[in-house]
Amino acid sequence: MGRVFVAGSINMDVVATADRHPKVGETVAGRQVLYFPGGKGANQAVAAARLGAGTTLIGRLGKDSFGAELRTFLGEQGIDLGYVQETADAHTGTAIITVAEADNTIVVIPGANALVSADDVGVVPLLKGDVAVSQFEIPLPTIAAFFQRARAAGVTTLLNPAPAQKMSGELLALVDILVLNETELGFLAGTELADGDEAARIIDVARKRQARADQTICVTLGTRGVLALAGREEIAVPGRAVNAVDTTGAGDCFVGALAACLADGAALPAALAFANAAASISVQRMGAGPSMPTAKEVKAVL
Ligand code: ADP
Repeated sequence: MGRVFVAGSINMDVVATADRHPKVGETVAGRQVLYFPGGKGANQAVAAARLGAGTTLIGRLGKDSFGAELRTFLGEQGIDLGYVQETADAHTGTAIITVAEADNTIVVIPGANALVSADDVGVVPLLKGDVAVSQFEIPLPTIAAFFQRARAAGVTTLLNPAPAQKMSGELLALVDILVLNETELGFLAGTELADGDEAARIIDVARKRQARADQTICVTLGTRGVLALAGREEIAVPGRAVNAVDTTGAGDCFVGALAACLADGAALPAALAFANAAASISVQRMGAGPSMPTAKEVKAVL
């Protein structure tokens, strides 16, 4: 059984709730302040670990109280944190979120996440059968270095290019499995993809962006499940009808679950069905990290 190695962001999400948003220059009294462990890298590692995969996170924290709290939380999830270092050069990544009138504003300060380097990923003991996972909240050259090493070691590379940003053809070619939502696929392809676009059109756009003939592109479609193009094969997994209460972290759950399943040796169609079921459980619970299901819970609905 392989391990899941996630090189990615670790944030503290600080959420302030109020009756209304302040205008520019104004102060309003809030109701509550809440602290949630977040960051796409951390969320995906939590998903993989909760599902039972041996999981190692590679990242950076500041030498501050948020860093200490996040280390404790992630350690409690059973994640190996031997490659998460504290840096004196930046504070822990922080997202400042205000929630009012059923709407939110978010300011994300990458802090230590921006310092995750090629050296940080250069020392990780990758072995054939492992899965290397990353997202776009750490520097892209670091991801390229990580994936180069992974491929040389016979390790599957899985990229979730979110939040969307421009990537080079060289980086895309290092990716074995690309997992992205419709908006991110539209950004990558330089075309508009609307909610509800036909499967044939989505597959067509994905096919044009395939960087290698053997590359897999998985497009997550929210309530509609997932469509994948694996080489020339098309795989469709329909969405599961559930009562969704909070879709925060659904994509991260999907990525972590897919990586966990593939590291366990599952074939792609089974891994996609598993990840789709895992994500459909996560949307029925509040929050990102705390909403990630266990393998037992996923198997019970499959
Ligand atoms: P993102 O959160 O990155 O935009 P999606 O909204 O596509 O990603 O969700 C990722 C996956 O989570 C979907 O492919 C699906 O498996 C699951 N999912 C998301 N929303 C729902 C929902 N309302 N009902 C059932 N499954 C969902």
